[in-house]
Amino acid sequence: MKLKIAGVGEAVLRDGARPLRSAEIGSGALDALIEHMRETLRDAPGVGLAAPQVGEAIQLLIVEDKAEYHANLKVEQLQERERRPIDFHVLINPVIEILSTPDVSFFEGCLSLPGFVAMVPRARSVRVHALDQTGKSVQVEAEGWYARILQHEIDHLNGTLYIDRMWSRSFSSISQYDRHLKQRSQADLLHEFRPA
Ligand code: ZN
Repeated sequence: MKLKIAGVGEAVLRDGARPLRSAEIGSGALDALIEHMRETLRDAPGVGLAAPQVGEAIQLLIVEDKAEYHANLKVEQLQERERRPIDFHVLINPVIEILSTPDVSFFEGCLSLPGFVAMVPRARSVRVHALDQTGKSVQVEAEGWYARILQHEIDHLNGTLYIDRMWSRSFSSISQYDRHLKQRSQADLLHEFRPA
C-alpha cells in the first residue's frame, strides 16, 4: 500500500520521533509499515524514507539506492559523489557518529519538499549504530552518498530538514536545476554557492 508522504509544514516532520520498544520490533504491525514504506519509496522514487515522512513519529528509516537510479548521472558525477548502489535495509533507533567535518556539498532533495533541491554540506563518512528489522544490533560504516543519505534520514528522526542545513542561495526548483545547474562543474557550483 502506498502511503501519503508528509509535506514540509506538517508538525510530524518537526516534532522528533520516539525510539521503538523491543516488543514493537518484529511485530506484524511494524513489518507491515516497513513494507508499505518500501512500496512508497520505490513508487516516488527515492533513496531513503524516514517514518515521520509517512506520519509515524518513530525512529525507523529505510534506505535503497538502486543502480537504475544512477542512469541519468555521468560516470564522473557518480565518482565525485561516491555514489554506489545500496541494497534495501531498515535501521531502527539509529545513533549516528559523524566521522569527518561536514565539508562535502552536493545538491540533494527530499520527498517531503517535492520539486526542489539545494546544496547541503554533509560529512563524507559516518558510523551508525542501530537495530535491524528483526531487532538485531547492527553497525554501519558509510562513506560518500550513502553517508549523505543516512545523515538526511536520521535528521528526519530529529525533526531536521535539509533546508535547515542548506546553502540557501543554492535553493532551486528541479526544473531550473535541470536547465541551468546540472551541467555545471562541481568546482563552479562550489565557487558560486559556498557562503562567504
Ligand atoms: Zn527527506
